[in-house]
Amino acid sequence: MCTAGSSTAFHLARLGHRVTVLERERSERIKPCGGGMAASVQQWFPFDLKPAVDDVIQQVDFSWCLTDPVVAEFPGSAPFWIVKRERLDALLLEQAIALGADLRRPFEVADLEREENHWLVRSKEGEVIEAKAVVLADGSGSPWPTHFGIGPRTLHMAKTLSVRLEGMGTLQPGTARFEFGLVHHGFAWAFPLQNGINVGVGTFIGGQASDAEAVLEQLLPDLGFSSTDGLRQNADLRVWNGHTPLHGKRIVAVGDAASLCDPFLAEGLRPSLMSGCEAAASLDSWLNGTQPDLSNYTVRMRECWGDSMAWGLRIAQVCYRFTNVGYQLGIKRAAAHCSNSLW
Ligand SMILES: Cc1cc2nc3c(=O)[nH]c(=O)nc-3n(C[C@H](O)[C@H](O)[C@H](O)COP(=O)(O)OP(=O)(O)OC[C@H]3O[C@@H](n4cnc5c(N)ncnc54)[C@H](O)[C@@H]3O)c2cc1C
Repeated sequence: MCTAGSSTAFHLARLGHRVTVLERERSERIKPCGGGMAASVQQWFPFDLKPAVDDVIQQVDFSWCLTDPVVAEFPGSAPFWIVKRERLDALLLEQAIALGADLRRPFEVADLEREENHWLVRSKEGEVIEAKAVVLADGSGSPWPTHFGIGPRTLHMAKTLSVRLEGMGTLQPGTARFEFGLVHHGFAWAFPLQNGINVGVGTFIGGQASDAEAVLEQLLPDLGFSSTDGLRQNADLRVWNGHTPLHGKRIVAVGDAASLCDPFLAEGLRPSLMSGCEAAASLDSWLNGTQPDLSNYTVRMRECWGDSMAWGLRIAQVCYRFTNVGYQLGIKRAAAHCSNSLW
């Protein structure tokens, strides 16, 4: 239960439903995430998300093997925020709880059983909770979508290594950095926080991790840090892999569990927040009897997100297979009209 789950819980609680949030972890921890997010996500929330925002991007610096720099101004009309994931998730959850959602943690879901009219959700310790509907929001490692015929049959995984660093090094506040060329089939990024930065290396096609440590050995000194600095976390990220049902009988999947993350840019926060909002609306219509099932959730997510992902997948296949060509044609051209092309 995190970004996508908290978003769903907030919207369901707001619509007057009884919600129980189940979270495996005892407390919030640093999450592997760049934290880059278009400010347009504010449209889905009636409360201010800015308390979770560490910085607002005004400039994007691109490089190819730490050379051939391209600088793009980010226009104020389409703000791009950098958040600390743990702070964003805590804020969403706090708002859901304020509207009556119940949080159970630690509660590690070990089994889901669909009975005639309800679900039995069983914890690792054997505790059982009954529910009318289940929202799968347990991220990229979730076994349940495949089990219940939701999401892609073949999972497409991006491999990532992220580093949380204290201090800014050479990165200026308000500046995001993207490095192509050092990373085979992917890219590296550095996003500014308040007194820190998130650095990451992502490989998006091929299913093989690039030598991310070797990339960091070159990138971190370029950013003004020692190559061994920072807290490192490896994560496999489930990315979009085709139009698929996101619902089943009395069950939906949101966020990474639904494979919604952009396969080109690893943008997963926006679809997590959006899917939470859309899933809650669909569950509400079904629970109050205006819809016979949850299929309108799949339809809405295809309209609002999936159709643009089909392009993301195609772009990823081209740019990450021929990365120098991708940099020259894709990135340089995108930088010319930055706000339209990056998230
Ligand atoms: C290195 C990296 C960098 C990224 N950078 C960006 C970025 O800059 N911008 C962007 O938009 N996206 C980014 N993403 C993607 C984004 O972080 C994810 O798409 C998004 O956070 C997904 O949220 P979620 O709530 O679906 O899943 P998660 O955040 O993974 O939440 C799943 C939750 O479920 C809990 N859980 C798991 N199993 C169980 C269980 N059995 N029982 C109970 N609880 C369970 C977990 O503890 C966790 O709290 C990045 C991802 C990575 C890995």
